Amino acid sequence: MLFLLILAMILSMWAQANVTGTYNKYAKVRNRRGYTGAQVATEMLQNSGIYDVQVERVAGNLTDHYDPRSKTLRLSQGVYDSTSVAALGIAAHETGHAIQHDVGYGPLALRSIMVPVSNFGSKMAMPLILIGVLFGGNSSYTMITLGIAMYALAVLFTVVTLPVEFNASSRAIDLLVDQNFLDTDEIGSAKKVLSAAALTYVAAAITAVIQLLRLISIFGRRSD
Ligand SMILES: [Zn+2]
Repeated sequence: MLFLLILAMILSMWAQANVTGTYNKYAKVRNRRGYTGAQVATEMLQNSGIYDVQVERVAGNLTDHYDPRSKTLRLSQGVYDSTSVAALGIAAHETGHAIQHDVGYGPLALRSIMVPVSNFGSKMAMPLILIGVLFGGNSSYTMITLGIAMYALAVLFTVVTLPVEFNASSRAIDLLVDQNFLDTDEIGSAKKVLSAAALTYVAAAITAVIQLLRLISIFGRRSD
């Protein structure tokens, strides 16, 4: 199990490096029509009949996200003003999240509910397990089980994230093609950026699941 965990961690690190490399590569390739990321997001929202989502700049690199609570689509500096195919792919992906929100896409709603639950779970998991291990006795088993259950909530979040991310990317590609922002020969580059990003979520979910199985196998044996 430890071996699998190390493999998953290597996969995560590779995926992280890969997304940076792919992004940097296609951040240098301009799209033929000269659209910026912000223009694409704004026009796509309007074309989808969404008028109550704000498109804003956010500091940082690859910090782009859609915030369902404030209905704000935040694009990083490298995406907002950029006319690269990478920027358009990312802007369209975030617009995909805004559209998911607008149409009531189930996994996104579930993911939003799970944000605080998952944060609470990941904060509580290790302290509970540690208390269980240190104090022993009858309550030890309960504490450890509770800790593992808390960890499972955080793991579930990384799994629920997967359909949300894949769906936003497939919406993004369709929108970029259907609304004529990118030509067919440019779309491959945008796809590569989004696939590289998707792989980081897959790697994170795999790592989390293996970590959970490892905890269960360690403490399952102990409490027998
Ligand atoms: Zn996303």
